[in-house]
Amino acid sequence: MSNNERTFIAVKPDGVQRGLIPEILTRFQNKGYKLVGIKLTLANETLLKQHYADLTSKPFFPKLLSYMMSGPILATVWEGKDAVKQGRVLLGATNPNASAPGTIRGDYAVEVGRNIVHGSDSVENAEKEIALWFKKEELVDYKPTMYGWIYE
Ligand code: UDP
Ligand code: MG
Repeated sequence: MSNNERTFIAVKPDGVQRGLIPEILTRFQNKGYKLVGIKLTLANETLLKQHYADLTSKPFFPKLLSYMMSGPILATVWEGKDAVKQGRVLLGATNPNASAPGTIRGDYAVEVGRNIVHGSDSVENAEKEIALWFKKEELVDYKPTMYGWIYE
């Protein structure tokens, strides 16, 4: 398992509007992950149909589209050991009411259609999503000064 696995984490429009950007960034930062990309952006239908390619035929998809286009999204990329799987652990379950307290969705959301945050569900999808939301030159590589205090 490499220490530079990358995952795509997005604060959805409800999370941005509710002022939860700092809290969500803090959780990933405090865990020990390295921020390698960040931007506030608006999603369009073309991008979302690729991002949620496996969900386009679901009955909730039209509502998901308008939710995700209802305001700015904070797109981020985080790097670290097992970042994809552990990122999902930090998020909690898709349905916030099935998420344990202590997770982001468990602590800050109540409905599946307003679950404030997205996280890649596999390394393969993380690579796909990062390439979809970010240009290569928008991702920054650097060695954090804390590295030796997080990795042995
Ligand atoms: N979603 C929804 N209703 C559902 C299932 C999903 O509105 O019954 C929304 C929800 O915002 C979720 C997103 O669609 O986060 C993507 O669904 P997925 O199953 O990929 O969940 P996630 O990976 O976000 O946990
Ligand atoms: Mg998903």
